[in-house]
Amino acid sequence: MADSARERIVTGANDTDSSAERRATELLRDRAQRNSNSPGMNDLRPRRFADYIGQRDVVNSIQIAVEAAKHRGDTLDHALFHGPPGLGKTTISQIIAREMDTTLVHTSGPALERPADVVGILSNQKYGDVLFIDEIHRLSHAVEEYLYSAMEDFRVDFITGTGAFAKTINLPLQKFTLIGSTTRAGMLSPPLRERFALTYHLDFYSDEEITQVVKRSAMILSVPIDEAGAEVIAKRSRGTPRIANNLLRRVRDFAQVRGDGKIDSGVAAEALRVEGVDELGLDRLDRLYLETLAKNYGGGPAGINALAASANEEVQTLEDVVEPFLLKIGFIMRTPQGRRATPQGMMHVGAPIESSDAGQRSLL
Ligand code: ADP
Repeated sequence: MADSARERIVTGANDTDSSAERRATELLRDRAQRNSNSPGMNDLRPRRFADYIGQRDVVNSIQIAVEAAKHRGDTLDHALFHGPPGLGKTTISQIIAREMDTTLVHTSGPALERPADVVGILSNQKYGDVLFIDEIHRLSHAVEEYLYSAMEDFRVDFITGTGAFAKTINLPLQKFTLIGSTTRAGMLSPPLRERFALTYHLDFYSDEEITQVVKRSAMILSVPIDEAGAEVIAKRSRGTPRIANNLLRRVRDFAQVRGDGKIDSGVAAEALRVEGVDELGLDRLDRLYLETLAKNYGGGPAGINALAASANEEVQTLEDVVEPFLLKIGFIMRTPQGRRATPQGMMHVGAPIESSDAGQRSLL
């Protein structure tokens, strides 16, 4: 059976989504792909553990769990992946399903609006199937409660009818594996979090690993690229494979139109400059955030709500999409008083460093 045929995608409209959540979700899904409608994103996804670059500790641990489960003829324990968007949580989940030789059913927290949605999916699962729930932190409380017994005892109890006609139905389920993916592990309720026997954090990739991702993707897309060109793209990819792939496509287009189709360091740097991606990989939104903090708030401390209002952005977008990488490269700090720009962050947007001290003094 073809790999693609083994994945079912279950979606559903969610009228109750706030526009803030929707906006953040869009950005989370594909921050750098906003202008890209190129097909074939799936073609770049590694299909086996051996092709999955980086995250060695995570991959080693999962490989052991998968091998052991297969050896016992059992299903894999429920697993939770958390970490910033675009780092490979969906990809590794698909690899797990493939290596376990089962079907992956793909859905998301916001799509599972009513308990009936989740009961419907669960009752259709076959033995060993993987139910992948993206953005699992956005499950409604009612839906989450159904998952507790489903995950632990492989059954759901639901009530039909009302009043005197109310009846509890116990529905046994096939043993399955739930894989949850989230950018916000902290937002998961403890009872749900505790039901995942396997929990993994995916971290940003090193420049070397991202260079490998770029070279691998260029090969699949048949784009000629030299080592230096791949390194330039990698350095500006914010340690994130999804961004690397998207930037590669943008550079490929530039090379095709303005050059001879080949990517070297000069072509890559010029293409990314045109795209508004700076040498550290920060884009318009990152710079807007930093500039607001550095210039409007003298480097902080500033509360996230105030920053979001000044930058005209959603809090969730700033927290999930912008801040993780700025924290990682040491441009900002989260303090009990609020966000602060570090001297490196201030310098990056050309703000005078003394103003950071002034900002602090004004609060004393
Ligand atoms: P997430 O679910 O964490 O948001 P995805 O799994 O959707 O991220 O990954 C985004 C893209 O990045 C994928 O389409 C895939 O091509 C690429 N990718 C992710 N992780 C890796 C990896 N370890 N090696 C190579 N490519 C990767």
